[in-house]
Amino acid sequence: MTRDRSKLPKTQKDPLDPKELELFAERARRLNEERMAGYREQSLRIHPWVCARCGRHFTLKNLRELTVHHKDHNHNNNPPDGSNWEHLCIYCHDAEHGRLEDDLAPSRDDPGDRTQSLTHNTFDRLKDLLDGKKGGK
Ligand SMILES: [Zn+2]
Ligand SMILES: [Zn+2]
Repeated sequence: MTRDRSKLPKTQKDPLDPKELELFAERARRLNEERMAGYREQSLRIHPWVCARCGRHFTLKNLRELTVHHKDHNHNNNPPDGSNWEHLCIYCHDAEHGRLEDDLAPSRDDPGDRTQSLTHNTFDRLKDLLDGKKGGK
């Protein structure tokens, strides 16, 4: 059990100014929150507070466990009518994305252009996937 951990040198002083790091993190968080709050708030106003998958109901008390999922997985696609949003609890949301990643994994050899698009960025792969499974949830 006792490895030679004690022999390892202590981690050196962080070369980055912690204050700067903090500022950066703060700014990133605020930006993210603003963006999140925008569509999340709208979606919560439009759609019922129910997980679209497991049917769990939410109230103000546990609302933070309800997330807004983008049906087409494009976070920049936020139509005001809410057609791209779906309410999912954090667990179902996790599952939703986990499943997708499984599907995206190039485990089998696809003939044709597909193999090519797999080397492209994620969005191309997502688009491919969505095109191939229209309406699939
Ligand atoms: Zn759920
Ligand atoms: Zn999502």
